[in-house]
Amino acid sequence: MKRTSRDIRTANRYEVLRQIIARSPTSRQELAAATGLSLATVATLVGELLDLRMITEVGFEDSAGGRPRGLVAVDAAGGALIGVDIAETYVHVELFDLALNVLARAEEDIRPGESLPEQVVARVAAAVDRVVARAGVETARVLGVGVSVPGQVDRDTGVAEYAPNWDWHDVPLRDLLSARIDRPLHLDNPLRACAVAELWFGAARGHGDAVVVNLGTGVGAGLVLGGALHRGVSNSAGEWGHTTLVLDGRLCHCGNHGCVETYVGAPGIMQNLREHSPRSPLLHPEDQTATVDALARAVAAGDPVAVKVVRDTARYLAAGIADLVNLLNPEVVVLSSWVAARLGEPLLDEVREAVARHALRRPLASTRIVLSPVPTDPVCLGAATLALEGALQAVGQRSAPRAAAATAPGSASAAAAAAAPAPAPAANSAADRGRTAPST
Ligand SMILES: [Zn+2]
Repeated sequence: MKRTSRDIRTANRYEVLRQIIARSPTSRQELAAATGLSLATVATLVGELLDLRMITEVGFEDSAGGRPRGLVAVDAAGGALIGVDIAETYVHVELFDLALNVLARAEEDIRPGESLPEQVVARVAAAVDRVVARAGVETARVLGVGVSVPGQVDRDTGVAEYAPNWDWHDVPLRDLLSARIDRPLHLDNPLRACAVAELWFGAARGHGDAVVVNLGTGVGAGLVLGGALHRGVSNSAGEWGHTTLVLDGRLCHCGNHGCVETYVGAPGIMQNLREHSPRSPLLHPEDQTATVDALARAVAAGDPVAVKVVRDTARYLAAGIADLVNLLNPEVVVLSSWVAARLGEPLLDEVREAVARHALRRPLASTRIVLSPVPTDPVCLGAATLALEGALQAVGQRSAPRAAAATAPGSASAAAAAAAPAPAPAANSAADRGRTAPST
């Protein structure tokens, strides 16, 4: 797909804000150095962010003899963002300030048999109302609500096309939610939410190429390529959980056999345990979270069954990760989401060892495999970040019609524009056109 100048301008706006969040307070000069954009472009983008009240001027930097440099910082109170993590068994909602600090949390359980779209929407709406009340912010101050829902999502239409665990098909989720939540809604799935969280705030920050392996009930790989989230042509990139790991292997709910997910997703891990030790007290047949928690505790205590199950799971996982390393040659592979967080270092150690046996030496030599450093629910944080990106993108869309009108062929203003001297540097000035900010 062709990248338009508006896409590039939006990507540059993300990059500048990302750097401001990471470095606050910081100067335009420092931002230009960090992003590789021209000082004029950075100045224009900083001006836009100041107009939006997302950032604020915070004084001057001492400089040895030269002109003092103005400093800017994120205006944490400039607005609020909400991230919603709809999972198979729960809804987590977090409300953030603009520096992405959590101000309030709420949680609702989704019990088996209560996963009809209307039931899930009611849970989400109740939790969103609670975080807004708890944080004491006016609804109008919420710039957007990012919603992560499992499965395939059409971001443009807001339709949850397919959620296999609930047998949802073409649910108009954004329309259903917008009847209850009166703020801009941005839908996507946990893969992309986790990848964006790592890109802005976690282990992928500053890396051009990264893979964020999402280990939960479902499994997938969020892809960061060339410093930006890779969505693919129909927002379906990263469905690595449904690539075949074992020919004629376990039946997957996607209809195929032997998918990665059936060996390393939480139900797959339960099956690994069941096959090794059918009567293990670690097994909580109807409860994925309790089983994974029990395994994590037993591994820490040196229980041989748990050690073996985590090792087997890591071997399956590593074979799949080695494919990603060989295919994409990433700088970093991040293990994210609740299963990775609970199994932690013991899983990571086994995965590193097993990937080294499977991946080619050259691509692997430049790849680090790490656990997500994001301290909060990465899906909520990522969903809120998608809402932030949505708010930043909307700036471009609001200003676009004006720009188009000004240069409409044959119009008086187009003639005037042609005759006029060069305008103030645009955010995608000639020096920056055709590329986005390189990562640092
Ligand atoms: Zn599958």
